[in-house]
Amino acid sequence: MTPQKGPPKGPVQGAFFTKAVYNDPVKSILNADLHCHSVVSDGTLTPAALAQRAKSNGVELWALTDHDEIGGQDSALEAAQSLGMNYLTGVEISVTFAQKTVHIVGLGFDASEPLIQEGLKATRGGREERAREMSAQLEKVGIVGAFEGALQYAGNLELISRTHFARFLVESGVCQDTNEVFRRFLTEGKPGFVEHKWASLKDAVTWIRDCKGMAVIAHPGRYPFTPTEEFAFLSEFKAHGGQGIEVVTGSHTPDEFVKYADVAMEFDFFASRGSDFHSPTESRIDLGALPWLSGKLQPIWEQLEDRIQ
Ligand code: AMP
Ligand code: MN
Ligand code: MN
Ligand code: MN
Repeated sequence: MTPQKGPPKGPVQGAFFTKAVYNDPVKSILNADLHCHSVVSDGTLTPAALAQRAKSNGVELWALTDHDEIGGQDSALEAAQSLGMNYLTGVEISVTFAQKTVHIVGLGFDASEPLIQEGLKATRGGREERAREMSAQLEKVGIVGAFEGALQYAGNLELISRTHFARFLVESGVCQDTNEVFRRFLTEGKPGFVEHKWASLKDAVTWIRDCKGMAVIAHPGRYPFTPTEEFAFLSEFKAHGGQGIEVVTGSHTPDEFVKYADVAMEFDFFASRGSDFHSPTESRIDLGALPWLSGKLQPIWEQLEDRIQ
């Protein structure tokens, strides 16, 4: 891989290029974007369209990380290779820890391994039933037909998610945008929230590792943990063999870039960088349009050289 000099090329750089981030010297300058979603889960672009967009935005190393599903990996790899862009296999696994939902990204695993395929299949199970319950709850507050409405946006019934409900609630005029949806509905204590048990932290990390990949904590700043719960989460993730953490993600504020850089150092985690791009109209940060990792961090992709395709 040839390191790129200067800030990422591409249309969106925006407010996240902050002084706080650049007070640290930058060491590894590679435009890696190792977190995004396609129509295979809750994104709006196909894997091939995402690859094209990543390439035009200057991404040099890319991973498609659909929720609980690796059905898009072959087309993502093929598209990346045809564009001359390096690729790592990816997935974002839904996990229940301390009765809360967290997300674990897997990178560089062997997608043909039955262990990860079967683990993900089991994790996907139950989404349809959950979606029907969400819809029944919404009906009680006067919103009818939400299941059928959300399903129109979900390419795959097994992967029907809150994002698809959010799109339905916006398109049908109940809410102005997805932020309003998650403020008023679908989250704990609000109509349309249905508790769900996802994979265990140990299983998710084990599936990824046993299939030759590395496990990464996705957007750690987004979880509603107390400091004690967060410490337990980070420690247990490490004890199970987890090795990475997203420091620079589209979900973090500049202060969180700094906080999770410190966490990465404290726990000896390799650092990852990913936009969590879902859609040109819904996502705050475009593919590849992220600040660099601080030079004091060890980029996870340097540990995955032999898994890059
Ligand atoms: P689910 O896996 O069905 O619980 O849906 C989770 C998905 O909903 C996440 O992957 C995001 O794409 C989306 N989501 C969750 N919270 C928010 C939020 N506050 N704003 C926008 N999207 C959100
Ligand atoms: Mn999502
Ligand atoms: Mn996530
Ligand atoms: Mn994501």
